[in-house]
Amino acid sequence: MGTVQIPERFSRLGLEERRRLLEEQSIAEDWEAVSSSPALTALADVMVEAAIGSLPVPLGLAAGFLVDGRELAVPMAVEEPSVIAAASFAARLIRRGGGFTTWASEPVMRAQVFLEKVPPGGELRVAPREAELRERLDVLQASLRARGGGFCGLEVTRLPETGLVRVDLLIDVRDAMGANILNTAAEHLRPRLEELTGGRVLMGILSNAARERRAGARFALPLEHLRVAGSNEGGAAGQGAGGASAEAARRIVLAAELAAEDPSRAVTHNKGIMNGISALALATMNDTRAIEAAAHAWAARDGRYRGLSRYSFDGQTLEGSLELPLSFAVVGGAVGFHPASRLALSVLGHPDGQGLSRIAAAVGLAQNFAALLALVTGGIQRGHMKLHGARLAYQAGARGAEVRQVAERLAAAGRYTREAAARALAELRGRRA
Ligand code: NAD
Repeated sequence: MGTVQIPERFSRLGLEERRRLLEEQSIAEDWEAVSSSPALTALADVMVEAAIGSLPVPLGLAAGFLVDGRELAVPMAVEEPSVIAAASFAARLIRRGGGFTTWASEPVMRAQVFLEKVPPGGELRVAPREAELRERLDVLQASLRARGGGFCGLEVTRLPETGLVRVDLLIDVRDAMGANILNTAAEHLRPRLEELTGGRVLMGILSNAARERRAGARFALPLEHLRVAGSNEGGAAGQGAGGASAEAARRIVLAAELAAEDPSRAVTHNKGIMNGISALALATMNDTRAIEAAAHAWAARDGRYRGLSRYSFDGQTLEGSLELPLSFAVVGGAVGFHPASRLALSVLGHPDGQGLSRIAAAVGLAQNFAALLALVTGGIQRGHMKLHGARLAYQAGARGAEVRQVAERLAAAGRYTREAAARALAELRGRRA
């Protein structure tokens, strides 16, 4: 099968011409999958270069979250089958212990200007001019200032290896992710920073590290609420530290210690956390790459890549917590602009940027707790295979209620193949006929 051929000037063609060109190359069969709505296709054309449609990633709601005393359904956009089910499962368990408590710092980000050829001591001439630089930025960011954001300090560093001078402008970006706000600020001050230092600007750009813009969540789960799959003792109160629940709690703590020690395990541990956070980021059309990059950099902040969550168990209560940089926005870029993003924000009751970051921290912690609980008890494959079975059933032609029925048959037989799904479907239909 040949690849689709497009002309070099593909992006300069109108949307309709682009579509026609692809249709002529007989990729029509799956075309509908990226072009369900003409209005969304037109919107995609405004949002990105060379658009041909938009991708319908499955969107679901994770139910059962209690975050700072508020009940929430959390919109999650994700292609991986088990993510939403796991988040809901964990949220419902944690809710029994009172839910999540969350926090977020002020949304301060850094715009960075890097200068080369700064003569010795040139960097020392920047800090004394902070008031003047603030004034220049205040003029530029009047509307941000009016919302309580704007410039809030600077730091100057001479980097030891390249000898470059880095000027960090700390800016409170309020409810925006802030990339354009920060990049504009960095560019605006370029000429003045060159004058002050006697150097030449190499580049001006935000840092995605977002180390000052952090959020966190924690929960405390009394042992009697920790339900362990395959055990009939988890639910009853007063079973003490000897039960399966206490053993699960102890193993969860050990699993988190393992992720703090072993980077190869920590990557997967953190991937699980980001399953939840990235799915919320995508549903709200936040910048998933920025959020991911910041999380992983934070995980390696002491020079070794570690798991992001912490757990402790005192014999009665399992406590979990998560803290990481989270630069969730509710305005700017695609957020609040694309109708799918507006829908997700409505589901969440229109939080501000800090509020959304706090929800994200709770979702990340829920996802992590679900994964650890499954891993240290029955393993995660049982849940995964159930969902895999549903997909096999669909591929075999099952629709509606048949999907679940076929999946259940596959699970009962412990066989997950296309042939087994086809057979199970035939049997099901034969029995019904
Ligand atoms: P933006 O450019 O849309 O700016 C936000 C706008 O919203 C500003 O004009 C601001 O005045 C206004 N605003 C209204 N109400 C506000 C409030 N309550 N709080 C804050 N601002 C408010 O968006 P942005 O956040 O500056 O940039 C985000 C976009 O930049 C994303 O699409 C991102 O992917 C992209 N981007 C990212 C990078 C990177 O991460 N390295 C680099 C370049 C661009």
